[in-house]
Amino acid sequence: VVVGAGFAGLAAAKVLSRFDADVTLVDRRIYSTFQPLLYQVATGGLNPGDVAYSVRTFVRRKHLHYRHGTVCAVDADHQEIILEVGEALPYDYLVLATGAAVNHFGVPGAAEHAFSLYTRSDAIALRDALMARLERRAEAGTGGGLTLVVVGGGPTGIETAGALAELRNAALAVAFPELDRHQMRVVLVEQSQELLGLFAPALRRYTLRQLQRRGVEVRLNTAIRAVAADRVTLEGGESVPADLTVWAAGVTVPPETKGWGLPQGRGGRLEVETDLRVKGHDRIFAAGDLAILGAEGLPQLAQPAIQTGRHAARQVGRLLRGEPTEPFRYRDKGIMATIGRRAAVAQLPFRIHLRGTVAFLAWLGLHIDMLLGHRNRASALLNLSWRYLSWPEGSGIIVGDIPED
Ligand SMILES: Cc1cc2nc3c(=O)[nH]c(=O)nc-3n(C[C@H](O)[C@H](O)[C@H](O)COP(=O)(O)OP(=O)(O)OC[C@H]3O[C@@H](n4cnc5c(N)ncnc54)[C@H](O)[C@@H]3O)c2cc1C
Repeated sequence: VVVGAGFAGLAAAKVLSRFDADVTLVDRRIYSTFQPLLYQVATGGLNPGDVAYSVRTFVRRKHLHYRHGTVCAVDADHQEIILEVGEALPYDYLVLATGAAVNHFGVPGAAEHAFSLYTRSDAIALRDALMARLERRAEAGTGGGLTLVVVGGGPTGIETAGALAELRNAALAVAFPELDRHQMRVVLVEQSQELLGLFAPALRRYTLRQLQRRGVEVRLNTAIRAVAADRVTLEGGESVPADLTVWAAGVTVPPETKGWGLPQGRGGRLEVETDLRVKGHDRIFAAGDLAILGAEGLPQLAQPAIQTGRHAARQVGRLLRGEPTEPFRYRDKGIMATIGRRAAVAQLPFRIHLRGTVAFLAWLGLHIDMLLGHRNRASALLNLSWRYLSWPEGSGIIVGDIPED
């Protein structure tokens, strides 16, 4: 049984499908979400369907089984997992890959008032809230006066802030001519002294310059103390108006993990041995964002998730054949983040660092290629090309419904 149809779970299931085994993939959603492009959905650049792929289609192609459900308990003694509906699913080997969830670090008001960006529903909610605020101001003829605050200077934060700034700079004049774009602020708040901590210093500085060039107000060395419906309070007591706050500041494990009775390390992630078996459990593996190998763990990114998912599945194969397991070794294929049109950073192996148009095209090509399904690839390529090629004229925001108050 594989739990979680994200990067790690799908990679594991694909490998397991090659063995003489009965493989069931369990997920609480009927689709797999491509999280790296959620911010595009949230800013009206992609359709929600572009980042979602049917799990049933995936399993049918690989001769696997799919079970829709949320795993709420793991009974290691009886080798079964318990779904929220009360049903037990037995396993010989279990691969847990349920990913990450938002961490508000107990900041008052953050859970109630800030938008996060982990699921397709999160992205739709953020997009609709953004459009609702723009629409209300346009109807009222207030000429703007809108502040968008993004909390967290990691890849998700900078990508979201960059996209919001470009939306304002390019699209607003056409989509909402009543609004004065100069009255719309995008503020990015990061508590450490630099953006994109995982990247080389030159790429971090480039990112900062590019965001500032797009008019993003970057507040470094600044922690958020509280979030309210219409403002955020910064460390030191400064109050910043915030018509919409996006929380991209931290991750933890999904809440159900606590009840599984498995060893949890930093950030609540499941502690694994070098072969990715959960400590103290011979038949349970953990992979992706959920697993922590060593004290620090691998970065919570797509590549570590794919590679750990594959490795866990290969070890199940070895155990089925009566062979000893092998330790996991991570092959770093690099990291990327995009700031906006023709501006991205890529840190590749052999100290190859790219930025600007080359990095942007590499980012675009890689993300389209990684999407599941030809239709999603074609549709995302069309929508992103439309967005980035048409932005000088500012047309084509993908809209949804205005939420009812
Ligand atoms: C907004 C955003 C942008 C990102 N951008 C990038 C990027 O540009 N590059 C990059 O490399 N990485 C990026 N990442 C990180 C990357 O998406 C994750 O590291 C990766 O998705 C982790 O894969 P996973 O399989 O561990 O978990 P996930 O992909 O999160 O999959 C977990 C799955 O488990 C399911 N699930 C959870 N709990 C349960 C349960 N109890 N029962 C049943 N099913 C459950 C979920 O529905 C989900 O389908 C981004 C992440 C986010 C949120």
